[in-house]
Amino acid sequence: MSVAFKPLAPGGTLGVLGGGQLGRMWVHAAQSMGFQTAVLDPDPHSPAGLVSHQHIPRDYLDPAGLQQLASVCQAVTTEFENVPADALARLAETIQVAPNAHAVAVAQDRRLEKAHFVNCGVPVAPFAVIASDADLDVAWKHTEGIHLIPGILKTARMGYDGKGQVRVRNKKELIDAFKQLGGVPCVLEKMLPLQAEYSVIVARGHDGVMVHLPVQHNVHRDGILAMTQVWAGVCDSTLATQAINAAKSIAQELQYIGVLCVEFFVLEDNTLVVNEIAPRPHNSGHYSLDACDVSQFELQLRCMAGLPLTPPRQHSPAVMLNLLGDIWSEKLGSDPNFPEVLQLAGTHLHLYGKSEARKGRKMGHLTITASTPEQALSTANQAAAILGITAF
Ligand code: ATP
Ligand code: MG
Repeated sequence: MSVAFKPLAPGGTLGVLGGGQLGRMWVHAAQSMGFQTAVLDPDPHSPAGLVSHQHIPRDYLDPAGLQQLASVCQAVTTEFENVPADALARLAETIQVAPNAHAVAVAQDRRLEKAHFVNCGVPVAPFAVIASDADLDVAWKHTEGIHLIPGILKTARMGYDGKGQVRVRNKKELIDAFKQLGGVPCVLEKMLPLQAEYSVIVARGHDGVMVHLPVQHNVHRDGILAMTQVWAGVCDSTLATQAINAAKSIAQELQYIGVLCVEFFVLEDNTLVVNEIAPRPHNSGHYSLDACDVSQFELQLRCMAGLPLTPPRQHSPAVMLNLLGDIWSEKLGSDPNFPEVLQLAGTHLHLYGKSEARKGRKMGHLTITASTPEQALSTANQAAAILGITAF
């Protein structure tokens, strides 16, 4: 992408592939800066489509839909993990697309992703690629040598929120898991003893300038992000610096333009291992809407529009609680008691406009800001109690 990219002025139209909650929050950011928006998503009720100036309800690879998007937009980004990289490549023939199709293709395939990390000199979990029954045998032998078991078999493509993953403790479970996942190409990863999980959001502009949000401390439950905590000192400072440097080199080597999230594991021996990347804003960066002077969605907008990137500053300690469909279940007898939650000072409610609540489905999130980390955490636990979420 050229360094001489001309900044797009507010008033123009920007587009996004994918109409989920990430697209919705990007639409909000774009609109608040005076841009018009267009969303391509086949779902007529997609969270982003509902709030966008324009919604093109067509499939991501439908040439007519892509053509329509290209004809109304000056630049396009993506918010959807698995949006076909080909769709981005097609759009790039006529308009500005950020991130580029190659970077998205790498993020979509755990094999390419790990190869990229290794190339950048960033440590990964020990792993083996499994694409066939024959590989399974080879991997098993290999496995015995480097002890990949107990491990996690993950599909190389299309996984999210812990889907497409099976934990395996012996060879039989490995063989069964490969069958269960449909025999598609997979990566077998050693199960690592995690002390913590971190993530870093980095934004890189057309001119190569990079900025980042503070390192986030994440807690997962059942393979799904449950809570993010961000304040000075919540992450080990040496590891946080390593994470930021690693994230920047991963973005730099991809010639990445846009917002990139890099997920890390902190092992019990206090070492850092990269897990995966998301070529878009990330659930663990949602707190930035309420706790930073520039949100991850504004960063995404600035990157794609060629607007300046200034270093974000966090102004309040923050806790982000994910609101999954589970809390709408009959367990509570009625909808979550948001009015009671909103009585707590520093609570910011974000709901994504999804009409159907299902177990594990991300329906919204709650950010809690406070003047101290202790207060943020204590309010978060009060909110969790009201909502029927197990305490942190
Ligand atoms: P998402 O896209 O929602 O971030 P995902 O489905 O792509 O998730 P991963 O990030 O690979 O999946 O894994 C989900 C969670 O499972 C991790 O955040 C971590 O808690 C756990 N996990 C994954 N791999 C390992 C591992 N090798 N060792 C220990 N825990 C792991
Ligand atoms: Mg993950």
